[in-house]
Amino acid sequence: MLFLQYTYRFTVWPALLGSLFLLHSIITSMLPHSNMAFSIAYMCAIAGLYVLERFHPQVPEWLSDDGQSINDVLLTLISKTFSYAFLQINLVLFAVQKLSDSQLGARIAGWGLWPHQWPYTVQIAAGLLMCELFFYWYHRLAHEFKPLWCFHAVHHFPKRLWVLNTGRSHIVDSTLFMAGIIPLVALGASRELISDLLIITAFIGLLSHANIAVPMGPWRYVFNGADNHRWHHSVKMDEGNRNYGQNLMVWDHIFGSYYQDPSRMRPKRIGSSLKLPKDLIGQLREPVAAFRKSLSQPLWYK
Ligand SMILES: [Zn+2]
Repeated sequence: MLFLQYTYRFTVWPALLGSLFLLHSIITSMLPHSNMAFSIAYMCAIAGLYVLERFHPQVPEWLSDDGQSINDVLLTLISKTFSYAFLQINLVLFAVQKLSDSQLGARIAGWGLWPHQWPYTVQIAAGLLMCELFFYWYHRLAHEFKPLWCFHAVHHFPKRLWVLNTGRSHIVDSTLFMAGIIPLVALGASRELISDLLIITAFIGLLSHANIAVPMGPWRYVFNGADNHRWHHSVKMDEGNRNYGQNLMVWDHIFGSYYQDPSRMRPKRIGSSLKLPKDLIGQLREPVAAFRKSLSQPLWYK
C-alpha cells in the first residue's frame, strides 16, 4: 500500500505535465501555425484543469467565485492570450528571427556561444536554467522592490488560487518577465528552443496555480508547482516572499528562498496587503499611480 502511495506521488505530477505537452504536440501536428496551436492547446489545458478543479480540488472553498473571476479571465486574455501568445511570443520570436537573419546575428552565431551541437534536451535544460535565473531575480525584485511590486501585486490580489490566476498579471509585469529570454537571444539560441522554453513555462505556470489535489511528491524540490507556489501566494510576507522559481526551484535552493513546511498545512489565506480597486480598469491604472508614488518613497521593502 505504501509502495502504491509512493508510486502515485512520484508519477502523478509528471504525468499531468506530460499530458499537457502531449496535448500541445497533438494540436501542433494538426495545425500549420505554431502560435495558433499553442493558443488552442493553452485554452484546452485551462478547460481540462478547470474541470479537474471541480472534481478534485485541493481547497474546496476556492471553487466559489471571489468577485475577481471575470477580472482573472480578462487579465488572462490581455496578458497571456493576447500579449503572451500573440504579441510577446510573436514579437520575441520575430525579433529572434530578425536578429539571426541580420549581420549581427550571423556574427553571434559565428562566435559559437550557444552549444547548438548539444543534444536538444540538454540545450532545453541549459536554456531553462539560464532564463530561470532571470525569472528568479525578476520575480524576487518584484516582491522586494516597491516600484515593481506595484505591478506584480495585481497577480497576488485574489484571495483564492485557481487555474486562471496564472494569467492575471498587469501587462507591465508580464512584459518585463519576458525579458528573461534576452540572454538566450544574445547567445544565439534557436527560435525553436526559445519557443519550447516559453511553452514549458506556460504549462508549468498553469499547474502551479490550479486548485487541484495533485501531490508533487519529491518533484517539489526540483520544479515549481502548487506545492511550492501556494506558499508563495500566502498573505504572510515571510511565507509569500519565498519560492520565486517559475519552472525550477534550483535558484531558490541556491539563494536561500526555498520554503516548505511539511509540519503545517499549506496556507489557505492568500492574497496581498496592497489595496487595489476591484474593477479591471482600476487594477490596470492603479499600479501606474502607485509606481509613480513609490519613486518618492523608500524603494525597498527590506
Ligand atoms: Zn509573486
